[in-house]
Amino acid sequence: MATNINWAGNHVYTGTLVRPRSLEEAADAVAHADHVRALGTRHTFNDLADSEGLLVSLDRLAYRHPRLLTEGEESGPEPELDPLTGRVRVAAATRYADLALFLEERGRTLVNFASLPHIGVAGAVATATHGSGVGNTVLASAVTRLELVAADGSLRTLDRDVDGDTFDAATVSLGALGLVHGVTLETVPAFEVAQTVYGPVGFGELADAFDEVSDLGYSVSCFTTLRTPTFETVWVKRTTAQGPAPADVLGGPALTAEAHPIPGIDPGNATAQQGVPGPASDRLPHFRADQLPSAGAEIQCEYLVPRHSARLALRALAGLAEPLAGLVQVCEVRSIAADTAWMSPMYNQPCVAVHFTLVRDIERVGAALPVIDDALGVLGGRPHWGKQFRADPERARSLYPRREDFLDVVRSHDPRRTFSNAFVRTWVG
Ligand SMILES: Cc1cc2nc3c(=O)[nH]c(=O)nc-3n(C[C@H](O)[C@H](O)[C@H](O)COP(=O)(O)OP(=O)(O)OC[C@H]3O[C@@H](n4cnc5c(N)ncnc54)[C@H](O)[C@@H]3O)c2cc1C
Repeated sequence: MATNINWAGNHVYTGTLVRPRSLEEAADAVAHADHVRALGTRHTFNDLADSEGLLVSLDRLAYRHPRLLTEGEESGPEPELDPLTGRVRVAAATRYADLALFLEERGRTLVNFASLPHIGVAGAVATATHGSGVGNTVLASAVTRLELVAADGSLRTLDRDVDGDTFDAATVSLGALGLVHGVTLETVPAFEVAQTVYGPVGFGELADAFDEVSDLGYSVSCFTTLRTPTFETVWVKRTTAQGPAPADVLGGPALTAEAHPIPGIDPGNATAQQGVPGPASDRLPHFRADQLPSAGAEIQCEYLVPRHSARLALRALAGLAEPLAGLVQVCEVRSIAADTAWMSPMYNQPCVAVHFTLVRDIERVGAALPVIDDALGVLGGRPHWGKQFRADPERARSLYPRREDFLDVVRSHDPRRTFSNAFVRTWVG
């Protein structure tokens, strides 16, 4: 990583970037700085990761699987898989793609993945990154232990089995608790998934039958460009144990050629479809680990709306077709189960995720963000921490019932708020 710009190219980091070669070097850098933020794989679309002082990337300590190592790259130490508990300890900046290959070679995997496997574990955990599935919680739910560097450079450990419900403040932390250098995750026996893509499906029909469609697979994603009154594609991902995929979804037939989530784009970077089974890590993400994910030039925005308002959220989405005309590459609608992390948008409530992949036009997208907030915020929608949004900070803060408890935990770990930045102060406190 040789850049101070985020993946999407819409944010230039102002912090001074350091890339320590050892944990000791990282701890020393933290101990000598007034303001510190951890930088992960830079996939966040806003200034959440930025720092008024030091930006610490632990990418040089990350594990790289030999199959994904590129020329000149070196790997950090291998993850440690405990055969008795099935838990794996991994360096914080390791990407899900590398970890998944390591695990699959040992007959294990993770319970779910986001749409791309290129993101780092600690960064995804910190922002409540999620995949899809009525029964699937945020990726942070798999975390059982975090190893951190505190503001004075000392090393601390937070453990789900020891720290009780304080641990629910530690996973989705927005980076405000400290520099995470090690993450321990629960794994599950490796399983296979086959994905089938259907379409088109009428927008109104799908809105009416959203629960039934969401139940069709282990993970289901519905894509619309809002340019027609349809979901152009519905991606149904079923484990092999769930048996064969249905012949159609609400009359939309199974496609007989590979597709990309954005209609008309070469599907070369998309994971295999047409019912061909493969490892969970190569089917649950939409994008292949060895390719650039998504469209490559985009800005994303996403709201997590309480699941009981799914139909209203879909109606609101349809109403955005006109105001967002010319900006939408594709919208994705997914389901996520409730979790217990205090700062997770899914805290104590299952949600429907309404996601927008927009063109990379910073000005026009910036002008449209309040319109999206008006449409989905009114339904109690919480903006995704890692994506673009414009909202009333007071309203956004009021959506988190455990926010004050979270801040107490932050202050107890970091009294000088070394690890907070403008984003955290604005949206959390
Ligand atoms: C193409 C694309 C597709 C995406 N798909 C999805 C999706 O399917 N589902 C979804 O929910 N999100 C998705 N996202 C958003 C993405 O998952 C989040 O932005 C995530 O936080 C990215 O992780 P990162 O390491 O790149 O984070 P960064 O942007 O580098 O950092 C994000 C946050 O994590 C903190 N952090 C990073 N490393 C550490 C550490 N070691 N210790 C403490 N804090 C740390 C940072 O301080 C910051 O607060 C997508 C993004 C892109 C670009």
